[in-house]
Amino acid sequence: MTPLWTSDAIAAATGGTAHGAFTVDNVAFDSREIIGGELFIAMRGDTTNGHRFIDSALQRGAAGILCETAIDAPHVRVTDSFAALEALGRAARARTGATIIGVTGSVGKTGVKEAIRLSLLQNTPAVHASVKSYNNHSGVPLSLARMPADSRFGVFEMGMNHAGEIAALTRQVRPHVALITWVAPVHIEFFDSEAGIAHAKAEIFEGLEPGGTAIIPADNPHIAILRAAAQTHAARTISFGATGDVRPLSVAMTADGTDITADIMGETLAFRVGMAGAHWVNNALAVLATVKAAGGDIAAAGLALADLNGLPGRGARLSVAVRGGHATLLDESYNANPASMAASLAVLGSIAAPRRLAILGQMGELGEGSAAYHAGLAAPIAAAKVDALALVGPAMEALKLPNATHLATAADALAWARETLRPGDVCLVKGSNAVGLGTLVKTLGEND
Ligand code: ATP
Ligand code: MG
Repeated sequence: MTPLWTSDAIAAATGGTAHGAFTVDNVAFDSREIIGGELFIAMRGDTTNGHRFIDSALQRGAAGILCETAIDAPHVRVTDSFAALEALGRAARARTGATIIGVTGSVGKTGVKEAIRLSLLQNTPAVHASVKSYNNHSGVPLSLARMPADSRFGVFEMGMNHAGEIAALTRQVRPHVALITWVAPVHIEFFDSEAGIAHAKAEIFEGLEPGGTAIIPADNPHIAILRAAAQTHAARTISFGATGDVRPLSVAMTADGTDITADIMGETLAFRVGMAGAHWVNNALAVLATVKAAGGDIAAAGLALADLNGLPGRGARLSVAVRGGHATLLDESYNANPASMAASLAVLGSIAAPRRLAILGQMGELGEGSAAYHAGLAAPIAAAKVDALALVGPAMEALKLPNATHLATAADALAWARETLRPGDVCLVKGSNAVGLGTLVKTLGEND
């Protein structure tokens, strides 16, 4: 196997000096990820200094170190490790002949990125994609630096909290195909308006390669902003959604997925999405539009969509033991914002169960509108026809519902769940990650 990087290639890419010859098959800046054979990049962060973890990385089997100091081990010495990481990412991007796909959006980035990856894997094993939520100023260059030179496809998630961040990322990724999954109020505390978020997401098109394709959500309220930006930077624009170039002809939802027939730019495809909810109809159309634009096989993509399973914290379903029987948890504990709350509550409402429960944690990063956004959950909660409801965290106080139980912490919610859950129940667990409902899901799962 050709190595991902040689010490000489690392030195050439970063302008550093190699001390000792070595090769690596992966790159990491978190020493806990080292399992053997990696390049460990020692970076200075706001709170920690990666140089302190060099010994630990070597003990764990790092094959080489990229650092700013002289050390007694194979390394490439640079003046600025973060700049070197970016340079390595740029070099990885420059040397590959892969078709590059960039994914951003307020919701659905990781799920859609994963579905695109699985779809393209049906065409070739040479698909590289970002892992975890490595989607920011350090995660994106890391994901690029990890891309093997002989990749045929590269799929990169890009996230942001502030205007200008996506512009910087997309110039590194240089996508041939750039997708915006959806625009909604997320991280709105850093923006004047939702339109501001749309402009910030549309920055992804600024990095498109010449001849590149922009993919936009036709049914989004901010489509005009997205389309204008797409038309400025892209050679071709494809929209997806009810009124899009990629649109559903028929949609039949069931509790654990949706059967869809879609018109994909004149081609008809019948397929199933293995994830429930209207938001996954949107996401599936985004996947098909992207795979089509990237030159992948859409029939194969349809098969991959049928096999989708929810990721932990993002729609996974699990059966947990309660009182001599089992209840089902919809694990959405990883994040929450008004758009994803509504989407998940709609899924809950669509499930035929003796009782529907919801444990909803407060939503973070909503700024001044926080109280109004929390109060606004009343409508989707009513539509979901829940039989028992627990609201977790002080921001949830803004939501006044007669039958809700207000709880302070995830530990209180765990006690409530143990008390309340009965066999046959279906319970949605959703909140911003900081609320800690992931631990509740994990603990209930351990009883099984
Ligand atoms: P992050 O900003 O944390 O990286 P993300 O954009 O990667 O989030 P995902 O992790 O893919 O988003 O999905 C998070 C949750 O958002 C899902 O569990 C689901 O509840 C919801 N969601 C996914 N797609 C949509 C959509 N198109 N519309 C509304 N909600 C969605
Ligand atoms: Mg993500």
